[in-house]
Parts: sequence; C-alpha cells; structure tokens
Amino acid sequence: CGIAGYIGYRDAYPIVIKGLQRLEYRGYDSAGILLYHNDVLITKTKGKVSDLEELMKSGASQKGGIGFGHTRWATHGVPNNVNSHPHVSNSGNLVIIHNGIIENYDAIKKELKSRGYTFQSDTDTEVLVNLIEEVKKKNDCKLGKAVQIALNQVIGAYAIAVFDKEKPDELVVARLGSPIAIGIGKENKEFFIASDASPFIEYTKNAIYLEDEEMAVIRVDKPIKIRKIKDDSVINHDIQELKL
Ligand code: GLU
Repeated sequence: CGIAGYIGYRDAYPIVIKGLQRLEYRGYDSAGILLYHNDVLITKTKGKVSDLEELMKSGASQKGGIGFGHTRWATHGVPNNVNSHPHVSNSGNLVIIHNGIIENYDAIKKELKSRGYTFQSDTDTEVLVNLIEEVKKKNDCKLGKAVQIALNQVIGAYAIAVFDKEKPDELVVARLGSPIAIGIGKENKEFFIASDASPFIEYTKNAIYLEDEEMAVIRVDKPIKIRKIKDDSVINHDIQELKL
C-alpha cells in the first residue's frame, strides 16, 4: 500500500501515477487518484496501477496542479471499486487517502450515523473523513485543526493525506505507524508527499520524514508547518538531503 501526492506548478498527474508505480513493491489490491482542477476529480479501481492508468486514458481529465494517489491493501471491506481510495466526505468537500487501520471506526460510524451521515463503502477510511468533516463543522475551524482534533479521537495506525475543496491550495498529512516523506521544492514552490522518497527523487533532494504522531499542513509558497498531533507543539525537523 502506498501514497503519492503533489502540490505546485507542474501537472500532478504524471508525478502521482509514476509515484504509485514506484510504490507497487509495497503490495496492493486497488488504486485511485484525486486531481483538482476547478472541481474534484476522482478515478479509482480494483486492480493494478496500470488499470487506473488505462481508465485515466479513456476519458478522465488529467489536469490539475494538486492531487494524490493511493494503492490500497484492504483491511476493512473487500477489494472493489467502491472501497478503493480516495474517499469523499458527505458534503463532497473533503477527500482522503489512508494507509493503515482505524480500530475504533465502528463506534465512530454509529455516532456519525446518528447525526445523519451516510456511508457508501465498508472502509474505516470513509468513517475518518466524515469524522474530520463533523469536527470541522462543529468547531468551525480550518482543515488542519479538524484533522488534528479528529485524529485525537482515533485509535489505530495511519498515514493520511486530506484535501479540502474549499481550500484547494493546501494538503494536510499525518502519520502514526505508516510512513510519510515530504519532498520540498525550491523556494517552497512545490511539495511532494509519498510513502517513501522514490516518487519524487528526480524533482528534489530535500525531504522531511514525519515521525509518528506528527502532522503537516502543506501550502505552496509557505514554509511547511509540522505539529505534534497530541499537544499541538511545533516541530522543526532538519531537512534531509536525499542521496541516489
Ligand atoms: N484500512 C483502509 C482500508 O481498508 C486502508 C488500507 C490500506 O492500508 O491500504 O481501506
């Protein structure tokens, strides 16, 4: 399973699809992608990254300077198109990809259902994206804050990337147990996210690896902001130089 994403001045699609191919060694049963260009565009399928590529060739728009892709190793819900990632929140605004397991998803799902939320898939991931949405609504806060509050209610393991259609120049990532590497482009003009550095090694040699229980808000032209999920303390990681 793996994650690859991009935000910046290039087209995200070729970077993300190539990135997913480089992460294939991690094993998976489904693949999917989000691109944002005037609207949220999601393409996903059970099967190989090459199947996703075929789908994208046969009509899906490949435009967008922001996007992320996912390869799924099913834990909750069989491998099929609906259970594939990305997953979208009930409002249609929030989009998530997730590697890992949300152990207390059932209790959260019941609670969200009682508040009127509906679910299309059998995944724990769709529960998490709707929890983030509910927290964001209730606290009237930004995406980063909502992700942080939601993750503090979650038991499990995760590498996640979250996108908010209302703020389409930003990505939020977080990790506990599953890896997240962030590639930093020149002068913060572009950023890459991935399960390891292989998807972005030819674009930048500067990377930060999130530690467990850390999250980052990533915005073009802004220095990356990393915080502890639990206590909100600011973390300053040294930027590592990648070697080939
Ligand atoms: N638990 C999630 C699911 O079953 C994510 C699995 C993964 O790590 O790819 O959809």
